[in-house]
Amino acid sequence: MSPILDIQNLRKSYGATEILKEINVAIEPGDFLVLVGPSGCGKSTLLNCIAGLEPITGGSITIAGQDMTDVSPKDRNIAMVFQSYALYPTMSVAKNITFGMKVRGVDQATQDKKLTEVADLLQISQLLNRKPGQLSGGQRQRVAMGRALVRDPALFLFDEPLSNLDAKLRVEMRTEIKKLHQTLNASIVYVTHDQIEAMTLATKIVVMKGGVIQQIGTPSEIYNQPANLFVADFMGSPAMNLIPAKVSKDGAGHRIEIARASQAPLVLADPRPLDLPADVILGLRPEDIAEAGYRSGDQVQEAACMVDMVEPAGADTYVVSSLGGKQVTARLHAETSATPGAALNLAFDLAKVSYFAPGSGERLN
Ligand code: ADP
Repeated sequence: MSPILDIQNLRKSYGATEILKEINVAIEPGDFLVLVGPSGCGKSTLLNCIAGLEPITGGSITIAGQDMTDVSPKDRNIAMVFQSYALYPTMSVAKNITFGMKVRGVDQATQDKKLTEVADLLQISQLLNRKPGQLSGGQRQRVAMGRALVRDPALFLFDEPLSNLDAKLRVEMRTEIKKLHQTLNASIVYVTHDQIEAMTLATKIVVMKGGVIQQIGTPSEIYNQPANLFVADFMGSPAMNLIPAKVSKDGAGHRIEIARASQAPLVLADPRPLDLPADVILGLRPEDIAEAGYRSGDQVQEAACMVDMVEPAGADTYVVSSLGGKQVTARLHAETSATPGAALNLAFDLAKVSYFAPGSGERLN
């Protein structure tokens, strides 16, 4: 398969300020690509470059095999859904959805057919005569998507489409967008600052920071093998524990020593034949630290740790312990007897550990 979208060495500057640096990413037909990163990292700028709303400073963008350099936004065979929805307030829902087709000179019968299909798909058939002002946020969102869907484009672009909705509706619409993607097998580029949205929707995630791609991968690759400290910290909630540790060779594997203020150092053994420096940042997700007896596996190691805080969260209880000068969070079962100020045997799954270089922040294993 040839990529539906291929971005090579893309650069974008505003005046002397470089906003996007050497962006290289490609997606296959049917991919759901999510651009994620903190506010200001360049996600929307990249999306606007793909849409042709912003000229690029260098590199190339190819959509469905065609170089987009001299192609205007309306000829790019894309449809965009904006955060603001950008609906025409004086037009009915039906007119909002069909307006683009009318402008392009699509015949009335085709317009009607498309409108019916898309209204059915989005379950807004009963709303077609209303004006945008008479709709809820979620309904407006559906109309904005309907307008994109009737174009049947090569590529859909979504710019934070759920950020104006309240928390519950966001989750509902997220599921709807995922269903829609599965039904249509559409190719999508989707911008969000919400890492959970990225994880749940994407087939492929691009994590950005300061206009630079930090990692491209499947949600599982990004979550389980973060490329650097930034990705490790940004993706996942509660965040991955990132603990300074001393490492020494021990047979084929390593001895890991983590300093503690009020106890002897925590010593763990990683039998994996890795190439590690003497100082590392050890990364372990909260769910990979359990209460002793609740986790099994070849490389699960138990150690008594002082509990500083216990935070019940319904299905789970989070326990915080101070390790290597960091507040380390463990995700325990709800019935744990963990008590603040008392020691608890914790089980660390060494098979899940990521190592990072303290200076560069790059992944080491
Ligand atoms: P994000 O979508 O990740 O929040 P943006 O792409 O909106 O980030 O912005 C990236 C950077 O580009 C920001 O620092 C922003 O201030 C800057 N920027 C965006 N648009 C312009 C513009 N028209 N002129 C100058 N700088 C801009």
